[in-house]
Order: sequence, then C-alpha cells, then structure tokens
Amino acid sequence: MMYVFICPKCGHTRMVSLLRELTCTRCNSAMANCEIDFLDWVDLGLKEREKLIHFYQQADPKDLCFYRPMPFYDHWERGYW
Ligand SMILES: [Zn+2]
Repeated sequence: MMYVFICPKCGHTRMVSLLRELTCTRCNSAMANCEIDFLDWVDLGLKEREKLIHFYQQADPKDLCFYRPMPFYDHWERGYW
C-alpha cells in the first residue's frame, strides 16, 4: 500500500509505503498525509493535483494528519476517539 504525502509549506509531494512520518526533502517541514487513495492520486490530472496541493497549503495545520493512516493506532493518534 502506498501513501501520498503533501508538504503544506511548499507543496512538494512524496509517495511512500513504509515510512510513518515524513519530512519534506525541499523545505524540511513535516509533510501531511493526504487522505486520498494512492490509486486515485495516480489517476488525477496535473490540474487536479495542483488543486489538492493548494487545498493542503490553505488548510489549518491542526486539521491535517502528519501520520500515514495505520489500522488501530491511527484512530488513537489522531484523537478520533
Ligand atoms: Zn516542503
């Protein structure tokens, strides 16, 4: 399973499968996990990706998830319950 991460600062994106937390290779800030499915991301056109990245750059950092989703731990870390 691959996960998409977006840097809310500079808009850089990375796709990872194993890493749980990511630091941006461009600007060194924490990257947010993009909640879009990796396969959907692959299907997105450039324009749509830009839109999504823009959305992450506008978002309040407290609304973003900086961990990739993992079953069980996920909910605990994100304070859902
Ligand atoms: Zn960055």
